[in-house]
Amino acid sequence: MSILRVLRGKVVDKFSFTSTPIGSQRIPVESENCYCDCGEQLKVRTTQTRKVVLLDFGELIFNEKIKYCPGCKSSFGSGQLSQLVPEYSNFGFEIIEFVGKKLFIDHSTEREVLNALEKRNVKISPR
Ligand SMILES: [Zn+2]
Repeated sequence: MSILRVLRGKVVDKFSFTSTPIGSQRIPVESENCYCDCGEQLKVRTTQTRKVVLLDFGELIFNEKIKYCPGCKSSFGSGQLSQLVPEYSNFGFEIIEFVGKKLFIDHSTEREVLNALEKRNVKISPR
């Protein structure tokens, strides 16, 4: 996935290990499509800011251009971002999977899960 490749490259260049946060720089993303399935050319509706937390990267801020079809009114966000994080969520799929494995396969306690997440650059407050 190209977003992750770019992010990993930035981290490696700057700090030479992958568990360092990239900081508050905003990462631009948009739909890879220029045309709708109905044939119309897509236009930009708005740009929204999304805070997303990913394993090893911590909190990242994406500026996502939302495109729309003037013909059928469909809207299009970034396909790459939707592969990293569920819609309306701030936590990436890999964090959800990581927590599930820790709880249900490794039988870790909540504290152990939080400590393991912190080692992967994800800070979550206990319930
Ligand atoms: Zn359309």
